[in-house]
Amino acid sequence: MEAIKSILPHTKLFINGQWVDPVVPKTFKTINPTDESVICEISEGDAADVDLAVKAAREAYDTVWSQTTGTERARLLFKLADLIERDADKIARLETIDMGKPFLVAKRDDVAEAAATIRYFAGWADKLHGKTIPVSNDLTVMTRHEPIGVVGLITPWNYPFMIAAWKLGPCLAAGNTCVFKQSEHTPLTTLVMFELMQEAGFPKGVVNLVNGFGHTVGNAMSHHNDIDKISFTGSTRVGRLIMVAAQGNLKKVSLELGGKSPNIVFADADLSKAVTGSVNALFSNMGQCCCAGSRLFVHNDIYDKFVEEYVAKVKELKVGSPFEDVDQGPLASKEHHDRVLSFIEAGKKEGAKLLVGGGAHGDKGFFVQPTVFADVKDDMCISKEEIFGPVVSIFKFSDTDEVIKRANNTTYGLAAGIWTQNISKALQVTKKLKAGTVWVNEYNYVHHLIPFGGYKQSGFGKDLSEYALQEFISVKAVTINHSS
Ligand code: NAD
Repeated sequence: MEAIKSILPHTKLFINGQWVDPVVPKTFKTINPTDESVICEISEGDAADVDLAVKAAREAYDTVWSQTTGTERARLLFKLADLIERDADKIARLETIDMGKPFLVAKRDDVAEAAATIRYFAGWADKLHGKTIPVSNDLTVMTRHEPIGVVGLITPWNYPFMIAAWKLGPCLAAGNTCVFKQSEHTPLTTLVMFELMQEAGFPKGVVNLVNGFGHTVGNAMSHHNDIDKISFTGSTRVGRLIMVAAQGNLKKVSLELGGKSPNIVFADADLSKAVTGSVNALFSNMGQCCCAGSRLFVHNDIYDKFVEEYVAKVKELKVGSPFEDVDQGPLASKEHHDRVLSFIEAGKKEGAKLLVGGGAHGDKGFFVQPTVFADVKDDMCISKEEIFGPVVSIFKFSDTDEVIKRANNTTYGLAAGIWTQNISKALQVTKKLKAGTVWVNEYNYVHHLIPFGGYKQSGFGKDLSEYALQEFISVKAVTINHSS
């Protein structure tokens, strides 16, 4: 715990430019998933703290931030991106301790992409202008792109630092102020993000952090009548609760939710690329990706060969301490580890063919063996529920129309993958898949220039790219009559 204090000086709430205790002082423990030890105690906010944070954000919005130029907002965001890069090693270390993802991945992917995302949105801050619309000679009509106001940002534990950047970048670039709530499982790197925003010089009240639980802090934010919008990433279950809570003041909502994404390998695919890509599609981040290719459809003609090579690759995955050279660390929490194991048991009971793994890995920490089920049937529970762990289900198919129908037979619609060397087939299938992202001969390619978000019950609204800015902007139409 002492060692953590030296790299993480602040564990309190951040409200109105100050690190403060909650109104009713309380803390919660954050746990290291690798060895199950308590890392440290974090201040636990509640509804009264959300009130204070919203008040500060409103005041800052009205008096300072809404009058700040885009160029000034850009300057602060560019500074933040530089500071993230300066502290990349420390941030990645904390992410690994708190969440369990391999350190090298945290540094190379999560932290680097967070800095790139903030820098990308910094570049937009002074380019958010409206249009003039030529209606008649007597009228000048224009649109103004204005911020929405005070925004609540609520995020999950699978990419804590990176998704924080996905939200903060467009929110602040567009001129909104915010109240942020990170997942109670992974609060550490967001505390660093707020230290860095303080160091960068964001005016007081512009960014506020209230850590705590979903049913208290998250619930208070989504019900709050002075929050104008909630941007949420998390489960479909909680997304639904937020929609209901938001009806009070009809706040705007954007939801990035769960998935059960199909990954389809056609008989003409480059087998070696498809095998490697499909292993990455599921096992990246220990399977804790919203877009994980968890339903792997393989064509009859290549099924046996593909499965043999796929299983061989999965068997090579190294599981162990995320500070060593491994492919997989632990899952993020005990609760989640137990849930994933219960899905594995359900798969065994339902009669899916277990080819690799099938249980916990080791006896300390929340590790789960990379697990492969083959000959899975579409109506099994492991085919329908989002497992969010290192568990893949392989299905056989024989016909393109059949596989499209089966791929779309889910309430989710976040992502999909296609492996084929036939470009016309790729384009035809892409058109028919009901998913917000389709990868062809690729999987899990997420980048700040590319919009990311779901169809169907995977949510609505986009993170990343120019499209994300639209989620944080109100368009005002102004009509001026200058007839003489
Ligand atoms: P979760 O929905 O349990 O929690 C997400 C956040 O919501 C946390 O901060 C949590 O404290 C908060 N929360 C919980 N109850 C709440 C309530 N009643 N009101 C308001 N906030 C509440 O999800 P999780 O377990 O942290 O993350 C995993 C889920 O996130 C998976 O379903 C995954 O697919 C999804 N996810 C989606 C994307 C995407 O971009 N579509 C990205 C990452 C994760």
